[in-house]
Amino acid sequence: MARPDLADLTLCPCGCGGVSIGKGLTKRGHVPYCGTPRSGADRPCHICQGRRNRAKGQRNQALTHRRLGGEGPTPHDEESARPYIVEVCIMPEAKTGDSIPRSWDRFIGGEWFRRALRQSERAAPVGAGVLPAVSLRGEYVVVDIRPVREGR
Ligand SMILES: [Zn+2]
Ligand SMILES: [Zn+2]
Repeated sequence: MARPDLADLTLCPCGCGGVSIGKGLTKRGHVPYCGTPRSGADRPCHICQGRRNRAKGQRNQALTHRRLGGEGPTPHDEESARPYIVEVCIMPEAKTGDSIPRSWDRFIGGEWFRRALRQSERAAPVGAGVLPAVSLRGEYVVVDIRPVREGR
């Protein structure tokens, strides 16, 4: 493989240590893959990491939106978010007692899930009969089907 011409190398100005080979800087002024091993960076870049996380979050929201039957543009903020009316035919396999792994109780009772569920509750119109739910990676939706107030 030919060695890259030194003239093609651009060191990232953010100080991450990353290098661009022949591609220059992105329009935001960092090298491609800034702050990651792919650019040879030895330090993370919080600006680029934050931007990548937001982009990933938006792709995930769009996927969830489509899979729940949403039409039109994906709502990206709490003001534009609306509950989904989803008609599904489900065949539940009802589990209880010791056959349920401990990891489920840790997950469902854990701070991460409870906080996510509270966010859902806060986003829903009061008294609208909306079930709080948490969607994960556009793959699963955990819906709280308990009657209101019970155990909450
Ligand atoms: Zn950088
Ligand atoms: Zn960066």
